[in-house]
Amino acid sequence: MWTLARDAAVPLWRRAPAAGAAPAGAVLAFSTRQGGVSEGPYRSLNVGRSTADRPEAVAENRRRVLAALGLDPGHLATAGQVHGRDVARVTQAGLHAACDALVTTIPGVALAVTGADCLPLLFEAPGAVGVAHSGWRGTLAGAPEAALAAVCGAAGAGPGAVRVHLGPCIRICCYEVGEDVATQFPAEAVRRIADRMHLDLARAARLRLLDAGVADGSIHDVDACTACAPEGYFSHRRDHGITGRQWGLAALGERSIARGM
Ligand SMILES: [Zn+2]
Repeated sequence: MWTLARDAAVPLWRRAPAAGAAPAGAVLAFSTRQGGVSEGPYRSLNVGRSTADRPEAVAENRRRVLAALGLDPGHLATAGQVHGRDVARVTQAGLHAACDALVTTIPGVALAVTGADCLPLLFEAPGAVGVAHSGWRGTLAGAPEAALAAVCGAAGAGPGAVRVHLGPCIRICCYEVGEDVATQFPAEAVRRIADRMHLDLARAARLRLLDAGVADGSIHDVDACTACAPEGYFSHRRDHGITGRQWGLAALGERSIARGM
């Protein structure tokens, strides 16, 4: 269902056109680290403003991603991302502090969460989209199902009407965690590899979404590991914290411009 256009000027994960039966024509994408102007540890498509990268470079990188998707930089909404489960119902562009998920029903508003190992989730329902950022803390706190509930509320639909997309994140191959973290997750989301505990963050999120009523066939995963692919993604773990961020993005696709934005 998802494909990465590696040859594009700005390589992005997009849904294959054949799967174009998307409710309300949602625009959904995950960015990679390729196609931008940043240098050094932020090479090249760093979209994270919380990094030590040049702000002009981050702004240009963001502009490139949004332009590739046909979205207006003036209608970008972002989240403060505090590893919690709070959701903001977005009616205007800009930074929404103290939340890890954004939901909107307004066409043209581009919702974005950044990550460099944490799992980005995109939600689509008839007339609503959402994004969420969920690392191990957020996942334990219930961020995936909190975002789901907000999308359902915005759409006036049940979880059976929602599709969820899991983006690039650190996967079980690379995500070694301490016993103290591992024991807080269901056994199906943890595995012992070479005598170290590894967490399957995407599986942990999927289990919570299934419990909350999303159909198994409605959860799609790009299946990419940020830590395994230094040329493809930024990884906080692999790069010891000095790295960029990639985006998970969702917007309702109609090009109509929301008033007052
Ligand atoms: Zn890996």
